[in-house]
Amino acid sequence: MKPKILLVEDNPLNMRLMEMTLGAQNYDLLKATDGQQGFDMAVKERPDLILMDMNLPVMSGFEVAKKLRELPDFRNTPIAGITALAMKGDMEKVLEAGCDVYISKPINTRELPAKIAELLAKGKNESGR
Ligand code: MN
Repeated sequence: MKPKILLVEDNPLNMRLMEMTLGAQNYDLLKATDGQQGFDMAVKERPDLILMDMNLPVMSGFEVAKKLRELPDFRNTPIAGITALAMKGDMEKVLEAGCDVYISKPINTRELPAKIAELLAKGKNESGR
């Protein structure tokens, strides 16, 4: 089965960029445009990886990551947190919320596919699937 990746991003241009970057890979891409929708879709669809903007309407990416990590099913699901924030300490905040990695905006489309493949492999090992 194709790995299922949930993209959570409220900015249409960034969403399109992620879709185009990952669309060439053999992935099943799901999309959500706010934090609540992202959380609900994650619980319903059980994605293999979540690529999520941290600055989202309705519920922030920080809240979504924290809430997901409280659920046993999401203890090992790789979550990549995307943020344009460049202040010192922001990377730590993203990791503290429960994300495995920090990806800064603008997204480096040349590096993203390898990062995603690496995270998927890591998630597979940790979940024992
Ligand atoms: Mn945003």
